[in-house]
Amino acid sequence: MSAGRLQAPRGTFDVAPTEARRRLRLLRIAEEVLGSAGYEPFETPVFEDTELFARGVGESTDIVQKEMFTFADQAGRSLTLRPEATAAICRAYVEHGMHKRPQPVKLWTWGPFFRHEAPQAGRFRQFTQLDAEALGSDDPSVDAELILLLAELLERAGVAETTLRLSSLGTPQTRALYLEELRAYLREHKDELSDDVRARLDQNPLRAFDADHPGTRAVMKRGPRLLDRLPPEDAEHFERVRELLDDAGQAYVVDSTLVRGLDYYTRTVFEFESPRLGAQSALGGGGRYDLLIEELGGPPTPGVGWAAGIERILLAAGGEDGGGDSRVYVALAKPDASRAGFNLARRLREEGFRVEMEQAGRSLRGQLKQADRIGAGTTFIVGDGIDVRDMRSGEQRHAADADEALALVRESGA
Ligand code: AMP
Repeated sequence: MSAGRLQAPRGTFDVAPTEARRRLRLLRIAEEVLGSAGYEPFETPVFEDTELFARGVGESTDIVQKEMFTFADQAGRSLTLRPEATAAICRAYVEHGMHKRPQPVKLWTWGPFFRHEAPQAGRFRQFTQLDAEALGSDDPSVDAELILLLAELLERAGVAETTLRLSSLGTPQTRALYLEELRAYLREHKDELSDDVRARLDQNPLRAFDADHPGTRAVMKRGPRLLDRLPPEDAEHFERVRELLDDAGQAYVVDSTLVRGLDYYTRTVFEFESPRLGAQSALGGGGRYDLLIEELGGPPTPGVGWAAGIERILLAAGGEDGGGDSRVYVALAKPDASRAGFNLARRLREEGFRVEMEQAGRSLRGQLKQADRIGAGTTFIVGDGIDVRDMRSGEQRHAADADEALALVRESGA
């Protein structure tokens, strides 16, 4: 190995304080939004037995075939850094007998996930997902609730102009029959298709829906749609979900070509996108997986959930750090004010302010500069009494002690 400069591994990144603060703020919004509908925080390990993902995500998926970080531990067990959250949450549901609790069990989680993909803007090998799951109910209101919670989260995070794509996949049987029908249809129109679509017709006929090729597009316009092949109970379920979204004024596009990358989905699937994100436009998405828990060895249990990418949400939200007016700075007008300054800083923290104080031997001018740099709304200058300085207007008012100083900031609404 060469003695080159050490760097973070390909597809990973460090999070500097400004960005770290935005991430924490988003986490607080998530806690509030999801908590408002009874979702509880939950955590699972960052690695699991490889078999969990092979069974839970699906052997044939890109994730399992190409993208997992898999390694053997010292006893030779095959472990994998988690590429997604749902399988592990279902594993935990079964392991802890959560079917005995009142249903649905609603959980949310947040943390690092790992996929060995080619890094590009908005696509990393370690990324952060926020994930919400509701296990134990097939009621369409749970699907609608989860979709609306993600919409609210995106809005409160400052992501404007999202598009919601929505569809229903029925059951795996419906899908298998439909794929056969689609293949047969494409074979009939083979000569009108692009070479690419024709070549992959047997493996992945759904690709034909994404084609730009005019001939292929014309064929697909008349082609069979999965949504028209749903059995009545699945079609009815989809109707109910749509009805609730309509009632909530949530816009969506029904898109029968929406197929998500994981094998386990049944019925509802959805995805939020942002036009601001370029090629990696998916902010978050999910769907229903009524067969997954049974597949993992649990009792038959319906489930529905979503995952959203934190880095993409913050990219799409763009914008500033904000800092907040509750930041204040304690400056010292003379060196022997440092004890009074320290005690004032403690007091202000107890009152809920974010406080930094002079700790670097700066001149008063240097201290005010520092207060500006950290974005403080107010600086308390401790000397004989306390001068309370509004950092925007530069206006300064005198207070005899901490109580009076606090009253002054409250009055000015800082
Ligand atoms: P998925 O389970 O693939 O639909 O992922 C859910 C969300 O996680 C996506 O909509 C993205 O926002 C985010 N995501 C997935 N893979 C990556 C990645 N490699 N890098 C960054 N974000 C990702």
